[in-house]
Amino acid sequence: MKKSSPSSTILVFLDRDGVITTESGEFITRPEDITYIPGSLQALRLLKEAGILTAIVSNQSGVGRGLMSQEQLMAVHNQMMSDIRQAGGRITIARYCPHKPDEDCGCRKPKAGMLEEILKTLSREKGIIPKNRYIIGDNERDITAGKAVYCEPILVLSGCLQQKDVRALQVAPKMVFPDLLWAVRWLLAYNK
Ligand SMILES: [Mg+2]
Ligand SMILES: [Zn+2]
Repeated sequence: MKKSSPSSTILVFLDRDGVITTESGEFITRPEDITYIPGSLQALRLLKEAGILTAIVSNQSGVGRGLMSQEQLMAVHNQMMSDIRQAGGRITIARYCPHKPDEDCGCRKPKAGMLEEILKTLSREKGIIPKNRYIIGDNERDITAGKAVYCEPILVLSGCLQQKDVRALQVAPKMVFPDLLWAVRWLLAYNK
């Protein structure tokens, strides 16, 4: 028998900007412009060490807006993956939506297309159907997308929202933390 059954697998969907990388209000278009929120790389290492699957789901409409190319987006992605690996972490899977809001695609959060596609891929390629799912994001759109695929939504205040904004949200997160490291420490303690 395997040590962990598929049903005990935990999957954490992660937004990128404002959760892992610093939210500057502008798109990250070059690898050298990436900066990390303090503790975020350590948090990803803790998730990896705990055997928790991680999936980045990120709106990057800068591509659709003509502010960066798909190649630039991938260069930023590859640099981030390399930095995460160097820090002892590992992202299981990552998806980006390159579309503009008015393109009305199915993948731009708050829609759940990227999350649904990841769940399908994990099931088809690895036979994994994670029953325990979380989403960690800095924006209400993340919370909405996560709830659509039955994730426990966790809001972090390291990006576009502050504590005073939380009450005004239409869709309530389950938990609110200052940043990813706080959120991951809670998640690990909660799932012990
Ligand atoms: Mg964000
Ligand atoms: Zn899209």
